[in-house]
Amino acid sequence: MPVTGGLPPLRDVIAAHGLGARKSLGQNFLLDLNLTAKIARMAGDLKECDVLEVGPGPGGLTRGLLAQGARRVLAVEKDPRCLPALQEIAEAWPGRLDIVNGDALSIDMLARLTPPIRIVANLPYNIGTELLVRWLTPPRWPPAWQSLTLMFQREVAKRIVAQPGSRAYGRLALLAQWRCDANVVMTLPPEAFSPPPKVHSSVVHLTALPAPRYRADAAILSRVVAAAFNQRRKMLRSSLKSLSPEIETLLERAEIAPTSRAEEISLESFCRLARAIEGEEQGG
Ligand code: SAM
Repeated sequence: MPVTGGLPPLRDVIAAHGLGARKSLGQNFLLDLNLTAKIARMAGDLKECDVLEVGPGPGGLTRGLLAQGARRVLAVEKDPRCLPALQEIAEAWPGRLDIVNGDALSIDMLARLTPPIRIVANLPYNIGTELLVRWLTPPRWPPAWQSLTLMFQREVAKRIVAQPGSRAYGRLALLAQWRCDANVVMTLPPEAFSPPPKVHSSVVHLTALPAPRYRADAAILSRVVAAAFNQRRKMLRSSLKSLSPEIETLLERAEIAPTSRAEEISLESFCRLARAIEGEEQGG
């Protein structure tokens, strides 16, 4: 079935169902079905997968995911005004679209899906980072999902893929890159959306690695990185002082100069430091 699904253009759907965009819900809709089909293709092979879509809105991306052959799409939308439009899509692709009216932050969405699972969404900007952090910090790794293909404000996308030495480098980059391959696969100008947001947007594709890139205890690594970047201008021997009275020795054991700053430290070095702290905590 083509990406239109035999349904009217999205502008007509929005007019017919009175879906005037609400800023409070981060509603910036993608109306070009060629574009939504392209984003769905970037998510990889969907044929054998259940797909979670957060915030389908009038359903442009939803149509793309179904046209790309997703086995099943679970679409979680907070705005009840969108439900009739989504119901029309469900009827065009019978038995493959489940619609849930609710808040993505308070529903256990992954529990409703069968692996393999891919997550694809043009996220509402106000909850995008929070959802990403939740998906990146499950109780066990590998996670229930295989990949995340997510639209963010371009600045957030840059923080996810940032490398040491750049201003965008910080907690989000380390969290994402520790256990995923992360790439920006598309950048869109404001005019691609209706209404246009103030800033550019980018799609980031993250693939879950089977195991973390470098061994480290997740809680210790998270503590180290948080302390280091909370005072990113300070030298590590000072910003990390609260972690251990022996922090200078531990930094040296991890082959990190105590006078260096968080921004300069690679993921591998942060993991080495987390292991040194773990060794000390275990009395090693
Ligand atoms: N996917 C559509 C598209 O690409 O045109 C809409 C994307 S729009 C950026 C974000 C969507 O997320 C809106 O439809 C909005 O109503 C919905 N939304 C906002 N907050 C939400 C939440 N907490 N849970 C679920 N959906 C939410």
